[in-house]
Amino acid sequence: MAASSTDCVFCKIAAGEIPCHRVAETERALAFLDVNPLAEGHTLVIPKAHAAFLEDLDAESAADIARLLGPLAARIQSVVSAAGYNILQNNGAAAGQVVMHVHFHIIPRRGDDGLGYRWNAGRAEPERLAALAGKLRA
Ligand code: AMP
Repeated sequence: MAASSTDCVFCKIAAGEIPCHRVAETERALAFLDVNPLAEGHTLVIPKAHAAFLEDLDAESAADIARLLGPLAARIQSVVSAAGYNILQNNGAAAGQVVMHVHFHIIPRRGDDGLGYRWNAGRAEPERLAALAGKLRA
């Protein structure tokens, strides 16, 4: 995990070199409005120190983000009169990550938003789940 990456747009926002619409801030985390919102109030929460993926995030930054997310999401939901919200965090291009600096999307849901996803759940045999859980614990 580097403190900052020179060609990273979110590092530049955290450093104040690129403007943003800031909504909340702690010592190690920053929240600002997404410029291409899926819904009114769509907000990004980032660590100030550069980390590309969730697994690169240091524990202190993760703690700051965790403390911010819930209360901020509830506040956004209330301010924009949403019925709920999604927290979305993409890791890797295959998962839809475009900006390679960890960020959590807070997306308020009012029924008129631009968020869509499929949830085509499958069925898993208990033996396969047990084998996989064993591998993951190892
Ligand atoms: P992701 O696909 O998870 O990497 O999402 C990146 C998000 O960052 C997108 O929703 C963009 O609209 C948003 N974004 C990119 N540049 C900026 C910026 N300068 N200020 C605010 N949001 C941005």
